[in-house]
This record gives sequence, C-alpha cells and structure tokens, in this order.
Amino acid sequence: MLGMFTFIAWRQAPAQPLDGGRPLLVVIKADDLTDEKRGIHPGWQRFVDFIVSRQMKAGIGIISRSLEGDKPAYFDWIRKLHASGSFEFWNHGYDHKRWTDNTGTPKWEFAGTSEDEQKLHLEKSAALARDKLGITFRTFGAPFNQTDDATARLLAADPDCKVWLYGEPGKTPPAIFIALRPKGIVLEPTALKPDFAAFEKSFRKISPAPPPYLVLQGHPSFWGDSEFAEFVRIIDFLTAQGAEFITPEELAARSSQARSSP
Ligand SMILES: [Zn+2]
Repeated sequence: MLGMFTFIAWRQAPAQPLDGGRPLLVVIKADDLTDEKRGIHPGWQRFVDFIVSRQMKAGIGIISRSLEGDKPAYFDWIRKLHASGSFEFWNHGYDHKRWTDNTGTPKWEFAGTSEDEQKLHLEKSAALARDKLGITFRTFGAPFNQTDDATARLLAADPDCKVWLYGEPGKTPPAIFIALRPKGIVLEPTALKPDFAAFEKSFRKISPAPPPYLVLQGHPSFWGDSEFAEFVRIIDFLTAQGAEFITPEELAARSSQARSSP
C-alpha cells in the first residue's frame, strides 16, 4: 500500500550444507569490549544492532577491568544482550596488558607471567562478571591470543571453563573445547581492518575442504564506516554460503555432539 513502509527484517538464510550435510558453523569472536571511552562505543552499538537485525549470534570478549566501579548503563547493556541469547560474553582477560620487562623479555597478561598472577587475573575477571553482570564466563580467549603452560593448567582446573578460543590443543582436558584459529583465512588480514576481497579469495582456497567451523576474530570498536562495510560484505558472503552464526558455547556443544555421533 502506498505510503506505508513494510519493514522486512533480514533473516539468516537457512543453512545450506556445504558437504556431507553439515552447515558451515561460524563464530564471530569480537574482541576488546570496554567502556573506557565512557559509555558504549558507537562501534559496538553498530555491531550489536547489525547482529540483531540479521538474527545472527556472536561472542563478545570483555576486558574485565572495565567492569570495575558503578556503571549501571554499561552493565545493563551487557546483561540484556547476554540474556537475549544472541550474544555470549566471554573472558578476554582483566587488563589486556603487554610489556617488555627490564631484561628485554616480552610479557603478556597470560604469557611469561607467573601462575599466581594469571590465576589472580582469571579470578578477578570471573568475580567481576559474576558480581556486576550475574554472568558465569564459560569461554576464555587471551589478549593477543598469547598464553603459556600456566594458562592451560589454570583453565584445566576451572570447572566453569568450557571453551578456549584459539587455545592450544592437547593441553587441557577434553571437557574444554579448543576452538581453533582457522588456517589461511582471517577477517582482519591487517590488524583491525576487515577486508572482503582478501576474505573471499582465501575462502575460495579453503572451500574444497572446508573446516567444520570458522572462528573469525574482529575488533568492532576500531572499525570506521568503510571497515564496517567490509565486515557486512563478509557476512553477506558467508550467509550466501549457508553459514550459521553461533556463540562459542554453542559451537562447543555442537562440535561435541558431532564427535559423539556415529
Ligand atoms: Zn584483545
């Protein structure tokens, strides 16, 4: 009818099997949520609105230090999105620091530091999520994806930990799902810049023997308009390939079902 707008929500296309009847499972690993620029960064809001409008799901890594203090608007924003089921908020460390010590040795929050320090950072993050958000972190992904044997021991001993994003296979019990970093394909070939042409080219290379899932890392608060447009083109492309966008915890559940099925 003239004069009336019909709003048609983008729907996630039904997953088409790539081969053998299985859809391509995709986890968007969105890193570095903080409120350090006071409030919700517009890049995060745009990302979240897009995921909701497409009826997709995604995982968002919180730098947990940002949960200190009294920030009701920030906490409510996270809580509501988490409760919607479309977003899984996960532990992306406490302070996300990296530095060089006085012997010139590089250090990261979870690599090259003592087990006690790492334990403290994991515990502080878990307590902040529990106390401020009412959320139990099920998924861990280290800042800079830098970890060492101490991290693996601590995650192995954490009964809440179900997923380790870009983790090290074989260092934790099978109860923790290691979501591998895909080989030869990335969302941001240059740090913080999604690139559709590079993504499509690399996808065509891997598509004859696609992995069972893709965990794609991005940094929405660093994307300007053109970077966000590239991200949307990548999502459009993956949707056309029959991708199903899920959370890290869902990926773990779906993958363990696949492993235990005949
Ligand atoms: Zn990060």
